[in-house]
Amino acid sequence: MNEFELIQAYFAAAAAEVVPDAQVVLGIGDDCALLQPPMGQQLAISTDTLVAGRHFPEQTDAFSIGWKAVAVNLSDLAAMGAMPHSILLALSLPSADEGFLRELSRGIFSICQQYGVRLIGGDTTRSPVLSLTLTALGWIPQGQAITRAGAQVGDWIVVTGTLGDAAFALQHLDSSLQHRLDRPTPRVAFGQALRGIAHAMLDISDGLRQDLGHILQASRVGAVLDVLALPLDPILRNLSLNQQVTYALVGGDDYELCFCIAPDAWQNVVQLADQHALAVTVVGRVTDSGTLQLMVGDQPYSCDQTGFMHFE
Ligand code: ADP
Ligand code: MG
Repeated sequence: MNEFELIQAYFAAAAAEVVPDAQVVLGIGDDCALLQPPMGQQLAISTDTLVAGRHFPEQTDAFSIGWKAVAVNLSDLAAMGAMPHSILLALSLPSADEGFLRELSRGIFSICQQYGVRLIGGDTTRSPVLSLTLTALGWIPQGQAITRAGAQVGDWIVVTGTLGDAAFALQHLDSSLQHRLDRPTPRVAFGQALRGIAHAMLDISDGLRQDLGHILQASRVGAVLDVLALPLDPILRNLSLNQQVTYALVGGDDYELCFCIAPDAWQNVVQLADQHALAVTVVGRVTDSGTLQLMVGDQPYSCDQTGFMHFE
């Protein structure tokens, strides 16, 4: 099968079945796709590469690889409060294995369908290592993007879901948390619901400790985090506190949202989270210290306890 047959069979045909959309003037098949941006909306664009063996274990099934490549990109849109619209897929393949391509394509279109996202273009090449570069495009009402730069002293720091699940799954093959590693759920609707409420937001891809650091730096503030407040799956609760904290703060691939709100917005956020069937947890607050301070209850948490920053 040549490159064009491959694109047609696994990507263009399925993309063409999607209901036409007023914004897609031209989809797959020409040199460029053409989009007509809706009035009053800004275009949010993000791109992420997943390399086999680096961003997912080599043995990950093809469906999950496709799912995750899209999910991590939609998560970036969610983190700005953008509404996902479409994706482009640059695919580097060691071989054109039909079984693999069929499942990869199924994974991609399955999550696209769930979030109403269209595949509008891409590129297909051979390379020794499997890699997928996804570009995601979304719309956001003019001036309403939630950046990393708006956190204010006194804000509460909130996270969705539970933290550290994917990192735990990476270390314990076939645990009940495997789906959290393979099929992350981008918090797309909730991210949009936080427009006008969250002062700053990002998605947690490299661990809360590092990612919250990005908000603090961009907003020129500090924070205190209570490690006892971290939301954890019951499986992680069975571990030592030190291991819990390491998974939750340093483990990557959570794709939960972390955002800062005025304390008096909390009831509103709880209601919105309820409507989206999501858990939200206050894990700390923004300070003027300029640094991130970890507490265990009201005592400083010492990071040099054995194992912290390292897995097991
Ligand atoms: P060009 O050489 O002009 O870049 P290509 O032959 O690479 O064109 O691609 C032909 C069409 O197929 C383009 O519209 C491109 O966006 C699309 N395409 C190529 N690879 C993929 C892919 N993996 N997924 C979706 N669309 C693709
Ligand atoms: Mg090309």
